Amino acid sequence: ATEASEHDLVIIGGGVAGYVAAIKAGQEGMKVACIEKRGALGGTCLNVGCIPSKSLLNNSHLYHQILHDTKKRGIDVGDVKLNLKQMMAAKNTSVEGLTKGVEFLFKKNKVEYIKGTGAFVGENEVKVNLVDGGEQTLRAKNIIIATGSEATPFPGLTIDEKKVITSTGAIALESVPKKMVVIGGGIIGLEMGSVWSRLGSEVTVVEFLGQIGGPGMDAEISKTTKKILEKQGMKFKLNTKVLEGDASGEGVRLKVEAAKGGKQETLDADVVLVAIGRRPYTAGLGLENIGLEVDNKGRLIIDEQYRTKLPHIRVIGDCTFGPMLAHKAEEEAVACIEYITKGYGHVNYNAIPSVMYTHPEVAWVGQNEAELKEQGIKYKTGSFPFSANSRAKTNLETEGMVKFVADAETDRILGIHIVGPNAGEMIAEGVLALEYGASSEDVGRTSHAHPTLAEAFKEAAMSTYGKAIHY
Ligand code: FAD
Ligand code: NAD
Repeated sequence: ATEASEHDLVIIGGGVAGYVAAIKAGQEGMKVACIEKRGALGGTCLNVGCIPSKSLLNNSHLYHQILHDTKKRGIDVGDVKLNLKQMMAAKNTSVEGLTKGVEFLFKKNKVEYIKGTGAFVGENEVKVNLVDGGEQTLRAKNIIIATGSEATPFPGLTIDEKKVITSTGAIALESVPKKMVVIGGGIIGLEMGSVWSRLGSEVTVVEFLGQIGGPGMDAEISKTTKKILEKQGMKFKLNTKVLEGDASGEGVRLKVEAAKGGKQETLDADVVLVAIGRRPYTAGLGLENIGLEVDNKGRLIIDEQYRTKLPHIRVIGDCTFGPMLAHKAEEEAVACIEYITKGYGHVNYNAIPSVMYTHPEVAWVGQNEAELKEQGIKYKTGSFPFSANSRAKTNLETEGMVKFVADAETDRILGIHIVGPNAGEMIAEGVLALEYGASSEDVGRTSHAHPTLAEAFKEAAMSTYGKAIHY
């Protein structure tokens, strides 16, 4: 074997966490290598997550809008047909463009890209099983683990990505299933459920809890969102547990049970989407060779500087603590490199936004009412409906609202929750406000252009410390 090559930093995993850390390290002048096994950079997010799902959400929305929402706007359209193959091709074009873009950024920042599977053979040594055959060993002063996450399987249902699918199958179906049952009414369930519902599937979402949206979504916003999605044709079974599944027949049969009362029922589907959460992925990393352990949820244990108990080995992104979000991974990547090169870094975990890209979008940052109640924090709320916003009315898109939660005494903003048109873009202003410790009055006294949807944001702030003008 050839002698191990020496690096300042070796990163295992070329997802958002790993590739951003690699670029930042390159910018800081480090000799850095990034190991990725899937044959393309960008990880879950670019290849099978954020990007392909948003491509399908965008284009399925267009299709649905052309079918159902143009007549009243004075646009008569003729024969509208779905070309699913082309919709998938459009998705692939976006994915390929972006992953190639990351490769270009690697070259620009002198990051060595190694295609293969990395595993620890020593505390400073990583052996790579190369995609093209052969092996390579890298020695490094610093190592970052950024191996991401995978879908949590449902016990007893074998994933084949055709009939029993995770999100990976849901972005690649070759035909529109007649009936789809989604297990889990979190973000993946609602986003991918929306896509196939718009394209013609009869979609039923089975959710264990009493509300949809997954962890963090405000109860009032969740309720409003559910009503809107129901109007679009999605069906929901809340407070319902899936007991078991059987995929041995032509379709899939699920046995479900109401949480209260225990009434059982059978649901039949052509395709079942398992969307009950994701879990950290560290298989095959050789953690046992260096004595690193994971917690009971499979997360690698780290301190506030992302260090494991071997301080030169750090962990960022989905495979450790915190929300499994691409922009969270990105913040950690930059901070992690700053800890290595400068000794300090910064991520404000209280100001990481969440966005669900349904139509309309749902977005939030900070805490919701239930969380504040649980902590005994006194708060006040203010909200503004899009039905009273001039631009939303102009666009004939008036569903939803903006809601502020602020400290009862100081008026400092504690959380902002939106369901409505462009919520995902609008929340950026909320994140900035929270990051700067703004009060609702700070936002309410800031001029917002007219006529914009953002005026609903301003007026929700006004209604938190005083009164909105238009409602
Ligand atoms: P990953 O992206 O999972 O990357 C880890 C990489 O490491 C993978 O490419 C893997 O192949 C590689 N790897 C693992 N082990 C090894 C090894 N031993 N050697 C070499 N390589 C290895 N987040 C958002 O913020 N917005 C969204 O809209 C959004 N949409 C999503 C939609 C879907 C359907 C899914 C599934 C997720 C979505 N997410 C979204 C979450 C987002 O994808 C993740 O939070 C993000 O990808 C985490 O980045 P990461 O780098 O930690 O992990
Ligand atoms: P999630 O945690 O958002 O939702 C899972 C849902 O499944 C929860 O509501 C839970 O109560 C329910 N559930 C769990 N077990 C169940 C059972 N046996 N029967 C019925 N319901 C059950 O997880 P997800 O939707 O799978 O998403 C995984 C991760 O991917 C999340 O961390 C999410 O942040 C990330 N993601 C983000 C985006 C985005 O930012 N737009 C999009 C997709 C995925």
